[in-house]
Amino acid sequence: MSEANKETLKGRSIKMEGVHYTLHTPRVEDLENLYFVEVDPTICEGCGECSHHCPTGAIQEMNDGTRHIVDQAACMNCGQCLVHCPYGAVAERVSYVGEVLEKLKDPDTVVVSMTAPAVRYALGECFGLPVGSYTGGKMHGALRRLGFDYIWDNEWTADVTIMEEGTELLQRVKNGGTGDKPLPQFTSCCPGWIKFCESFYPDLIPHLSTCKSPIGMLGPLAKTYGAEQTGKDPKKIYTVSIMPCIAKKYEGLRPEMAASGHRDIDATINTRELAYMIKKAGIPFRSLADEAPDPVLGMATGAATIFGTSGGVMEAALRFAYEAISGKSLLDPSIKAVRTDNGINKVEVAVPGFGPVRIAVVSGLDNAAKICDEVRAGTSNLHFIEVMTCPGGCVNGGGQPVDPSVMEASVFKKMMARVNKRFTMRKMA
Ligand code: SF4
Ligand code: SF4
Repeated sequence: MSEANKETLKGRSIKMEGVHYTLHTPRVEDLENLYFVEVDPTICEGCGECSHHCPTGAIQEMNDGTRHIVDQAACMNCGQCLVHCPYGAVAERVSYVGEVLEKLKDPDTVVVSMTAPAVRYALGECFGLPVGSYTGGKMHGALRRLGFDYIWDNEWTADVTIMEEGTELLQRVKNGGTGDKPLPQFTSCCPGWIKFCESFYPDLIPHLSTCKSPIGMLGPLAKTYGAEQTGKDPKKIYTVSIMPCIAKKYEGLRPEMAASGHRDIDATINTRELAYMIKKAGIPFRSLADEAPDPVLGMATGAATIFGTSGGVMEAALRFAYEAISGKSLLDPSIKAVRTDNGINKVEVAVPGFGPVRIAVVSGLDNAAKICDEVRAGTSNLHFIEVMTCPGGCVNGGGQPVDPSVMEASVFKKMMARVNKRFTMRKMA
């Protein structure tokens, strides 16, 4: 980056949970040239942690040792560079928080919250609760106090995803993966993975499940079924997707996300931004009583709450497919073999009346590339593959609270980074 382009982000950003954000509400037409994350060269110390965690090489070293995202098309918007930067030098460039706060004040707008499963397992960290605390009930209460008119929930559509994706797998298996529905079937809920497949493995698109992600389903349902059930004008409904993820901001802006006849998802914020809004409103999160989401699009079986971890979508869909293929009930609904935070886990599940269903659970796009290469080469005998961009799944998403240990463990990294940067500068001189 040239010296002239070195502009400090701090001056035009606000800090939410330790991360700098530009309050910017983009339009669909901006999507192709939009950067969702950005390195502030005035903060960057050139330690290289971001490059180490970037799955695509989109973030590159400049002549002065700082890093820069050189190509939007190669960036999957995963935010792994952001959550691993020990200096807080990576910022978010898209934030709907300003617009959401305005909509919440407008009595003529029906503001709907749509939270992902993983948010409720991380939000508590921002309020001093132990890492991994479940705060779903408090989260619903806080959303109500913020002024959301309806508290709807992605766990509802995660249940729908299980049925849709399981049914599709069943059809592909019965047809032997012939025609335009080949095997293996890949999951389709993770927006970083979808962009990766479209960019680097477009020939594998027919392998992607045709199901939308849970939020891709809930947005249009909110403006059609939800509007009908509550008697609200869909034109007045403003849907806010609340995600553990940065790439979901990209997904919400995709032009095809307009199945309801309106924009299906009006705004996307993440866990850190929700925590900021709750704190700014002075809501005593820790002492809130547990509250339930609103009916119509808020209730769920609970099966989908495991969507937030690697293996969760697979386990839930397999339960459904096992019973649909075999006609038998699973005695133990937990299929623990697929629960893993290994990068790649291949498992066979014996299904009565069919035989072994061969599956893989993959997290991290470098691991996804290995599996994609096998599928492309025709050497994979798998039936079903779950891919999550972030290592360990959505719980470790780029929109989650930044782990304090990244900063605490960084004294060595900081020292080395300064040495490296000076060294680089000396070389340049
Ligand atoms: S400080 Fe290190 S991790 Fe952060 S942006 Fe710069 S090189 Fe990347
Ligand atoms: S958001 Fe993800 S893909 Fe983009 S530069 Fe950062 S780590 Fe790389």
